[in-house]
Amino acid sequence: SDEITDGFKEKTNISYELSKEAEKYMPGGVTANIKYFDPYPIFMKKGDGAYLYDADDNKYIDYLLSYGSLMLGHGHPEIINALETQMKEHGTVLFGTPHQLEIEMAKKLVNLYPSMDKIRYTNSGTEATLLAIRLSYAYTGKHKLAKFEGHYHGGYDQMLISVNPPVHEAGPESTPLSLIESKGVDPYHQEHTITLPFNNLEATAEILTKHQHELAAVILEPVQSGYIPTSEQFMTGLREITQQLGILLIFDEVKTGFRIGLGGAQSFYSVNPDLTTLGKVVGGGFPIGIVGGKEDIMMISAPSAFSDVFDNSHSSQSAAKEVLFHSGTYNGHPTILAAGMTTIAVLEQEMHHVMGKTAALKKGIHELFSRKGIPLQTVGIGSIFNIVITDQERISNYRELQTADFAWRKKLDFALLNEGIYTKPLNRCSMSTVHGDKEIALTLEAFEAALNKLT
Ligand code: PMP
Repeated sequence: SDEITDGFKEKTNISYELSKEAEKYMPGGVTANIKYFDPYPIFMKKGDGAYLYDADDNKYIDYLLSYGSLMLGHGHPEIINALETQMKEHGTVLFGTPHQLEIEMAKKLVNLYPSMDKIRYTNSGTEATLLAIRLSYAYTGKHKLAKFEGHYHGGYDQMLISVNPPVHEAGPESTPLSLIESKGVDPYHQEHTITLPFNNLEATAEILTKHQHELAAVILEPVQSGYIPTSEQFMTGLREITQQLGILLIFDEVKTGFRIGLGGAQSFYSVNPDLTTLGKVVGGGFPIGIVGGKEDIMMISAPSAFSDVFDNSHSSQSAAKEVLFHSGTYNGHPTILAAGMTTIAVLEQEMHHVMGKTAALKKGIHELFSRKGIPLQTVGIGSIFNIVITDQERISNYRELQTADFAWRKKLDFALLNEGIYTKPLNRCSMSTVHGDKEIALTLEAFEAALNKLT
């Protein structure tokens, strides 16, 4: 591994020093485990358009884009402008009251996402899936959830099940076990979260049928990890069987929203889920989550005159139980909604460019690898893809992905870092409106240089 990271270490001395300093104050020196990588993560100090600059003044083309959130790149002038106007004219903090931007964004989302009649705001994707699950329990009166192996929906107990399980411990492909993936998770969740095999309709239908009387909902990433698509046949079949069995279908579109298209995966597949969660892009680079869905489900959270649990004057504990509790000091934060509305407005003009550029880059990478005789797939649809080193024809679920050559991919990632291409090792690539022809050309040159060193 020294050989892999030699060039990296030479170029990133200050990041090394900062990582040592950070370790004194934060476990692993990071604020989220995913930000860590071996031997130490790069400390960035500035983002500008498609570029990132690190503490040692190395310049990178950014393909992490804050895990896909920054679809207009860094510091887009229209976002800066919207933030300035919002803060100067309306104040820096949120009002703690309803306000007009909440309505404007809601209207926009309800128009773009066919399955949404009404929405609620949260502060993160994690909170959004949490609320969606509570809504599904309240609506169906059932209290178990099914999720797919390899799918991520946030970092809380119920969701830290079979996201990245060791295959040899995970049971048969068609009946995967529910494995807990963090210390400190109540084993209770192992029984209450049932794990399903992605893109395997027959096996999924069998498990759902068996548990139909306990299952409130099935949640999925309609495109696993943002890049492994659901097959059309699986998607249609899943919608049909959940409807037949009285199980709600939740699309977690935190990654796919605005990235597979303006209307997310549900527009792409023409399938209407019962509930949808959004995050990332829709916050314009700031923390946000959205839950949207059908009128009768969403209305369970509507307060009634006697439902304010904190208003003791009504002494209304029993009435409160009739309403689903949802709160959050920062929900619908006006500054964030201003950034989000601007992002959507720009994407409405430029979405097709981002899609075109992504396709061009994927094609270029593919040709380069073919010439070198290295088997690879650029897996993905829309504006996200991942580079999978594999000679398999098909990568359609978690198990198939595990057959890829991750060690070689890691070598490639470090070689690319040295050539000025940033993505977190082993992570997927996301594109933005400011990744232009010039950046694509530079990226392909960097790939070529990296491959020349490795082969
Ligand atoms: N669901 C999906 C599909 C996600 O990709 C993520 C974040 N990667 C989340 C939920 C959680 O969102 P957040 O990090 O904003 O809490």
